[in-house]
Amino acid sequence: MNFKIHDKLVHEVESPKGLLYRMIIIYACCITALLTVLALVIGDTSKLNFYFFINTCTVAVMTWFIRKSFNIHSREAHLLVFRISLFFLLNSSLASMAGGMNLIDRDTASLIAAILYVPAMLMIIYSFRKFINYVNHNYKSAVNLSLTDELTGLPNRRHLNIKLREIENRLATICIADIDHFKRINDTYGHDAGDRVLRNTGLILSNLANDNVFISRSGGEEFAIVIIDHASAEGIVRKIKESVSYDCNGTFKISFSIGVAIKQKHESSSSTITAADDALYQAKRSGRDRIIYSSRFNN
Ligand code: GH3
Ligand code: MG
Ligand code: MG
Repeated sequence: MNFKIHDKLVHEVESPKGLLYRMIIIYACCITALLTVLALVIGDTSKLNFYFFINTCTVAVMTWFIRKSFNIHSREAHLLVFRISLFFLLNSSLASMAGGMNLIDRDTASLIAAILYVPAMLMIIYSFRKFINYVNHNYKSAVNLSLTDELTGLPNRRHLNIKLREIENRLATICIADIDHFKRINDTYGHDAGDRVLRNTGLILSNLANDNVFISRSGGEEFAIVIIDHASAEGIVRKIKESVSYDCNGTFKISFSIGVAIKQKHESSSSTITAADDALYQAKRSGRDRIIYSSRFNN
């Protein structure tokens, strides 16, 4: 599938706030040109030296930064503070430039530059800290989104795979729980009713999850459970099954078949998943609505 989210994000960040940034570019160009012309008119072309060149570059870089800051799509106040601080720095460089050309007294130019520079740096420190928080928050949200199943709010298959990699070399109990005859619910009561059942099941299961019990939606109407607390695993599986088996407004009953396999420290997660899947298959074949432990279960 050709997923176009990247294009969408690029489109969103390329929405500058109208004339404002253009006005800043025009302002920087006009003042620089004015100072150059004044230096030429006053007749001291020796002032158009390396110092002038450095200041012009600084002004150009500041203007470029301000222009680029308009590519960040955010209503956060710290972004405004950041832009104002860059504008102060821009004017600080222009003041230095004017001083360097002897258009104003050098001491006065240095004072103006310093007065603009100090609050600009304080504002940059403030907005940079806020910006880091903002980026981290967005990054965490994006990661959470990519690891969460949209319908149930439970961890998704990708998150399960990460969890399975984490428990390599650890003792754990892995269960695959599958809703019985779910297709019938869809066929009889509609896809929306099926979705409601999945959402409700997700809600119940999320209340049973904790640091030692990881519950994910691994596919359609199938949930994978990883239990680290091995001693009470049997009780936890029973409790999960009882919690999600319920009567839907007296119209239909939801029941689960669960296949369970114990992962020894030296065993791979994938082979344990396969064993739990086989146990689930047996549970289905032997009449559904039951928990079957893999023959590897050796408690
Ligand atoms: P069994 O007891 O053997 O598990 O039978 P089953 O009907 O539950 O299993 P089957 O694999 O035949 O059908 C699963 C159905 O789940 C088919 C599919 O359309 C449905 N399904 C998968 N994902 C979703 C979903 O997100 N929402 C809804 N409403 N249905 C889904
Ligand atoms: Mg099923
Ligand atoms: Mg299934």
